[in-house]
Amino acid sequence: MTKFDYDLFTIGAGSGGVRASRLASTYGARVGVAEEYRVGGTCVIRGCVPKKFLVYASEYGHDFNNARGYGWSAENISFNWQTLIENKDNEIDRLNGIYIRNLKNAGADIFQSRATVKDEHTVHLEAENRTVTAEKILVATGGAPWVDDSIPGHELGVTSNEAFHLENLPKHVVVAGGGYIALEFACIFKGLGCEVCVVYRGEDILRYFDTDVSVQVHSELKRQGIRVITQTVFKEIEDLGGGEKRVHLSNDTHIDTDMVFWAVGRWPSTKGLGLENAGVELAKNGAVIVDDYSKSSCDSIYAVGDVTNRVNLTPVAIREGAAFAETCFNNKPTKMDYRFIPKAVFTQPPVGVVGYAEHEARKEFKNVDIYKTNFRAMKNMLTGSEERVMMKLVVDADTDKVIGCHIVGEEAAEMIQCIAIAVKAGVTKAQFDETCALHPTIAEELVTLHEKFVPPM
Ligand code: NDP
Repeated sequence: MTKFDYDLFTIGAGSGGVRASRLASTYGARVGVAEEYRVGGTCVIRGCVPKKFLVYASEYGHDFNNARGYGWSAENISFNWQTLIENKDNEIDRLNGIYIRNLKNAGADIFQSRATVKDEHTVHLEAENRTVTAEKILVATGGAPWVDDSIPGHELGVTSNEAFHLENLPKHVVVAGGGYIALEFACIFKGLGCEVCVVYRGEDILRYFDTDVSVQVHSELKRQGIRVITQTVFKEIEDLGGGEKRVHLSNDTHIDTDMVFWAVGRWPSTKGLGLENAGVELAKNGAVIVDDYSKSSCDSIYAVGDVTNRVNLTPVAIREGAAFAETCFNNKPTKMDYRFIPKAVFTQPPVGVVGYAEHEARKEFKNVDIYKTNFRAMKNMLTGSEERVMMKLVVDADTDKVIGCHIVGEEAAEMIQCIAIAVKAGVTKAQFDETCALHPTIAEELVTLHEKFVPPM
């Protein structure tokens, strides 16, 4: 009989924590889980899931316009933000209930409480003012939006946390940042009818993506009337009263707006968690440093998901959680495989990518071939929309393996999920070419890319 209250105590009931806890339970572990906010975590409660509902809502804004070209009349359309938020919240409540049920059915005890680490095997439950002990502790506390508090008036802005619960739809939104959240929300608000301006510090948005992706997304944002200001940051946010703000920029201009949206990154949530009490080493940004099996510098403490700042995506956290449970509770040491993880940015149009960007491939492989195309999709011939599709394959010329695929365009995320299977399995360009096209689709262009791209001299 173990001397601990639990075999596993998980702090944080998000995607990674829930997966690990459920699986460990099914392997016979006695599991406790503490969650200070809502079971489901960022993805379900205030991230991927509600965001996708807002994306769907926003896409209708464009669809009503586009439908005209197909003979529909869409006059006097109107949009009600409160209805959207209420329906979205109902669905999130339902999912939250499912997550709670699944954990309970697996046999885990759930504590609605903030939990902190007292020592290698002890957790303090604040809401109950008591401690519990566990043989292993799993830190799965995720991350939280970061706001630049050196900017005067920074508190006048909102983050994605608040954006899901705004009382009213703003008229004008100024977004700080040029990454996933900044651009997804810029498109959401634009589609819902707001004026939107994105202020980004670097040369071009989506810095970590293939250059063709950032260029294409930038031009699509501009096409739909989103203003993108690069190489610029906020200097100050001034309260003009009546809900109006003035954002002073580093380029000595200003923008008046009724909503400022911070999307300048997310930081791992380890502040005040007491990890130092167990000698857990943290990175400069607060991330828990872990080995390939998600073990921290303390033998009994593990961490999965965004709190480790490896690849901050829900399916990755889920897999890290599963690998942890296999390793620690099923006697099957399992490492997460980080190669060829498909990624999507739900801009409008969306981005779907898997594998190497061209610049990354050129660093790692001796000979790289590029195939790419840029076209207006058939659907838009009647809508009048100038939206375009960009597709790009990155090929290791020595093995003929497709090592990267990058798509910006309608259904890019759906396409890339399927392509990722083939790319991960080591598909060659010749096999792409051997695959018969499915006509008429956007995706067929991927198997008809015959001309190598030759960069201009
Ligand atoms: P990102 O890293 O994508 O973007 C952060 C942005 O903020 C970057 O453009 C960055 O610029 C900028 N920035 C950082 N620091 C400053 C600063 N001091 N001043 C001005 N700008 C700054 O983070 P997000 O918060 O958008 O998303 C967090 C993570 O969550 C993502 O990396 C992704 O892993 C995940 N996510 C995934 C989604 C999806 O799968 N669709 C959706 C949303 C989030 P620079 O590029 O120059 O560093």
